[in-house]
Amino acid sequence: MKPGIHPKYEIIKVTCACGNVFETRSTKGSETLTVDICSACHPFYTGKQKLMDAAGRIERFRRRYAGNKPAAAKE
Ligand SMILES: [Zn+2]
Repeated sequence: MKPGIHPKYEIIKVTCACGNVFETRSTKGSETLTVDICSACHPFYTGKQKLMDAAGRIERFRRRYAGNKPAAAKE
């Protein structure tokens, strides 16, 4: 490799919304990475159909747009 032009490729800690913590390698440096889904909670690996809303994003979305729709809107 040509010296001086490549970013550092270091081990960083990744924290998932499901609580799983693992290490990977990244050019992001020594920072920690936060993800919403990982191999421990992804439906492909768990075999479960439903995605867990561990980060509470659906709830946040519903709260944000709750007042925008008329009363006739379906829940
Ligand atoms: Zn996860």
